[in-house]
Amino acid sequence: MSTDVLVIGGGNAALCAALMAAEAGASVLLLEASPREWRGGNSQHTRNLRCMHDAPQDVLVDAYPEEEFWQDLLKVTGGLTDEHLARLTIRASSTCRDWMRKHGVHFQPPLSGALHVARTNAFFMGGGKALVNAYYRSAEALGVRVRYEAPVERIELDDERRFVAAWVKGERITARACVLAAGGFESNREWLREAWGRNERGEWPADNFLIRGTRFNQGVLLKHLLDDHGADRIGDPTQAHMVAIDARAPLYDGGICTRIDCVSLGVVVNRHGERFYDEGEDFWPKRYAIWGRLVAQQPEQIAYSIIDAKAIGRFMPPVFPGVTAASLPELAGKLGLDVGAFVRTLQDYNAACRPGSFDHTKLDDCRTEGVAPAKTHWARPIDTAPFYAYAVRPGVTFTYLGLRTDDTAAVRFGGTPSANLFVAGEMMAGNVLGKGYTAGVGMSIGTAFGRIAGTNAARAALQQGVKEHAVA
Ligand SMILES: Cc1cc2nc3c(=O)[nH]c(=O)nc-3n(C[C@H](O)[C@H](O)[C@H](O)COP(=O)(O)OP(=O)(O)OC[C@H]3O[C@@H](n4cnc5c(N)ncnc54)[C@H](O)[C@@H]3O)c2cc1C
Repeated sequence: MSTDVLVIGGGNAALCAALMAAEAGASVLLLEASPREWRGGNSQHTRNLRCMHDAPQDVLVDAYPEEEFWQDLLKVTGGLTDEHLARLTIRASSTCRDWMRKHGVHFQPPLSGALHVARTNAFFMGGGKALVNAYYRSAEALGVRVRYEAPVERIELDDERRFVAAWVKGERITARACVLAAGGFESNREWLREAWGRNERGEWPADNFLIRGTRFNQGVLLKHLLDDHGADRIGDPTQAHMVAIDARAPLYDGGICTRIDCVSLGVVVNRHGERFYDEGEDFWPKRYAIWGRLVAQQPEQIAYSIIDAKAIGRFMPPVFPGVTAASLPELAGKLGLDVGAFVRTLQDYNAACRPGSFDHTKLDDCRTEGVAPAKTHWARPIDTAPFYAYAVRPGVTFTYLGLRTDDTAAVRFGGTPSANLFVAGEMMAGNVLGKGYTAGVGMSIGTAFGRIAGTNAARAALQQGVKEHAVA
């Protein structure tokens, strides 16, 4: 059976592309590397989508206008973003939810403790797993054929960089157009090791990274496109969404429940018992994704988030209980840290906290004076037993190295867009996210570009079909 659009990948971006292509009248085949029970890549772990809106909209309160979304993105990326593609993503996020609902996705208001994002982010009822299942159901109802355990090893292009065929386990699969939506390379530990290299302490930092999501995003096609086909690249291989997660998390698929969300309520120390960054720099949703990287730069790639009894009940509790102690020296002992150094750090910090009105819902005036690094908000002495500690390690969510694209989602070669090869999701997220992150924008990018890629792949395939018909 001939195929108009081949979609490679089985997460949000791939499914959005497959659905749009099928809606446009194309025949679609989707190849997912994982077995059916693990389908959905990192998207199965998600909870929400960052959405622009000019007025309250069902589950979204107040307004989150384009300019504010853009400024948030500009700030976290430090300008490493393509404004045109970023604004396209932002605008698309304001109109995609009706289409998502049509395909069975339901939204709900955020539960309490969910990163203060009631205004900016729409939560999926049942999380990413329910979203992915709804999309698969809808895709199959539209006639999309799905093959699991179908990891694509390489693709064939013609001299004009048009897609011709994909290879899976020795089988050649042809199609008139193709969408690449096979994720980043975050699950490939060898590649992470190579990208991060060896540090000045002789350590290989990536050896201590944990992968928060799927094990199937090995970056096989990303490497193949960049190295073998010379596709235009975007981004730096060490840039990624990296969160500080519970050091006890599994190597893959620990998901959302391993995140440690109490950083801004306390202090974080490294293996030497020293603080190393402003824990209260900004709201946690705007800062949580820098902490994986910060921990990656510390000795042995480990750090300890320390809070006292005052913080309890103010953050989403992690799945595993923390280490508890009745005093700070006892806590240091339980963590295996130098007690003197740890207690000194905490005493210096406590003495530097200036009185203020603590309010975790705004950038309050509780800050330190005369300690480095400063804590600029929510700084309160850590003085009320019991004390708690969570050991954290870098948890890689997804990498930003990707294929350069434009507003048509075409893969580009030497600046020229391919006529029938498109890309969406993590494989191109680096066009919008050069570094940093703001919660929910991964799904905004995947949804916007998945839909564009699917539409344009269908158009390219159907035009090609007409030509073939005319010749025959
Ligand atoms: C724990 C966790 C929580 C997250 N929470 C959120 C959130 O709440 N909001 C948000 O916006 N973002 C969140 N993200 C990020 C989000 O998951 C990604 O931005 C988004 O899902 C990317 O979608 P994608 O389709 O590009 O990739 P994925 O969903 O990872 O899909 C990639 C797919 O490609 C398949 N694949 C890989 N290689 C091949 C191959 N060679 N051949 C065939 N198939 C292949 C994989 O099996 C997978 O199905 C979270 C990520 C994690 C890990």
